[in-house]
Amino acid sequence: MTIEHQDVIIVGAGLSGIGAAYHLAKKCPDRSYLLLESRQAMGGTWDLFRYPGIRSDSDMHTLGYSFKPWQGAKAIADGPSILDYIRETATENTIDTHIRYGHRLLSASWSTEQSIWTLEISQSNAEKTVRMSCNFLYMCAGYYSYTQPHDPKFPELEAFEGKVVHPQFWPEDLDYQDKRVVVIGSGATSMTLVPAMAGTAKQVTMLQRSPTYVLTRPSEDWFANGLRKLLPETWAYALTRFRNTLFQEWLYKQARSHPERAKTVLISQVRKQLGDNYDVDKHFTPSYNPWTQRLCLVPDNDLFDAINSGNADVVTDHIKRFTKTGIELISGTHLLADIVVSATGLELQVMGGAQFTVDGHAVDFAALTTYKGLMVSEVPNMVSTFGYVNASWTLRADLISEWVCRTLNHMRDTRTSQVVPLVPEQLKGMPTKEWIADFPAGYLKRGMHLQPKQGDRAPWVNSQDFRKERALFNQPIEADSALHFSSPSNP
Ligand SMILES: Cc1cc2nc3c(=O)[nH]c(=O)nc-3n(C[C@H](O)[C@H](O)[C@H](O)COP(=O)(O)OP(=O)(O)OC[C@H]3O[C@@H](n4cnc5c(N)ncnc54)[C@H](O)[C@@H]3O)c2cc1C
Repeated sequence: MTIEHQDVIIVGAGLSGIGAAYHLAKKCPDRSYLLLESRQAMGGTWDLFRYPGIRSDSDMHTLGYSFKPWQGAKAIADGPSILDYIRETATENTIDTHIRYGHRLLSASWSTEQSIWTLEISQSNAEKTVRMSCNFLYMCAGYYSYTQPHDPKFPELEAFEGKVVHPQFWPEDLDYQDKRVVVIGSGATSMTLVPAMAGTAKQVTMLQRSPTYVLTRPSEDWFANGLRKLLPETWAYALTRFRNTLFQEWLYKQARSHPERAKTVLISQVRKQLGDNYDVDKHFTPSYNPWTQRLCLVPDNDLFDAINSGNADVVTDHIKRFTKTGIELISGTHLLADIVVSATGLELQVMGGAQFTVDGHAVDFAALTTYKGLMVSEVPNMVSTFGYVNASWTLRADLISEWVCRTLNHMRDTRTSQVVPLVPEQLKGMPTKEWIADFPAGYLKRGMHLQPKQGDRAPWVNSQDFRKERALFNQPIEADSALHFSSPSNP
């Protein structure tokens, strides 16, 4: 039986997958490609999440693609605008015609003899699975489960007679007008939801176990919008992107090297907005140092305005149990609620939840070592996209795509069909670190044991440092002794 074959199959038609397809079509026009998308729409995160106020928390001049200027007036953009931007990229470049919707990758099996990945794919409109094959597998499947958000198992939740909603599955018709809403969590989603619902709801309470650092910035970037009036769009975008990557890096490094100073600046910003009578120590002063977990953005002071107006409040406490009418806290306080939003985070997932084998042996990613945070030792012809936790995702996704295209072109030029990173014998005992080191954010910690490890030297690292990585990724492919190129007739 013949099965459909492509040179490259990209898994996932989100921000990364559409960007990957763009790079591939431009720089490797000789390669055929297809995108498999398990959902019925492109956009990934930006199509899935539909909660009120959904927006980016990093600026679109760095979350946007390197090749397509972000033209919106707001640098901190709402979800529908980001989705439009992804869709526009796909249609402008006829990427949309390469997407197979409703196709979920279940498993991928590599054959060294044939230099081929055979994919087992479920189709949403058919009972039987379908097989496809490709020479190169490019995973752009994101990092979390689309079907299973993190479930912290709230005590006695079943007693609650109101509505419980998860931001990942926001009901389109949820009516929260004049309702009492409790949003559980202190991450970016809570910080977005609370001001967005305040004013319509009767009262919105952000219930957190512990506070998060917040940074306030205007949603419009005067520098970017000013440059756009003076320079051609592409120049203005490139300059703003450059300036913003420098600023993000500077902010992150300052926070990590001078935590006390960073803490003072961040906390005083909050105090200035909420006033001396507000308990900033309790609700906005974390016990950890700034940027050891992701910083949350408060654009245009929206969260503080909501708190100051009295429509929203923050409670820092622990849940004892749910009751018929709300939530009883350890302190003894009872929070009345008509709607509880469980903004408690994502469940990390590796490689889109698919199973992998190499020459018949199951791949245990956690037992392997990452190569530059984009390939995995001993797994041939497979790249996976994971962005930055301390900067915009797309900065890294773009770097990875450029590296993939250079590698594929090198393989064309050298007439090789396989590339595999192999840790040299003498480095097999090198000290290892977690996939993302020194960043103990809850959602990452929960899934870290599933990810490949890092070694203690390049290229066996995932440094999460844009500038370092740009230099590392740009090193000549042919001079990289960690990569082994071959073809089946000449392994
Ligand atoms: C609410 C929210 C806000 C965020 N805001 C920011 C931000 O401001 N800045 C930032 O840098 N990052 C942010 N992120 C991280 C964000 O996920 C990335 O920026 C980016 O959107 C990830 O794109 P992606 O294409 O890699 O993954 P996703 O957007 O997750 O897309 C993955 C796609 O792959 C598909 N897929 C998965 N598994 C399979 C499979 N087995 N078979 C076929 N298809 C599959 C999915 O259906 C999906 O369409 C945010 C995340 C969330 C949840």
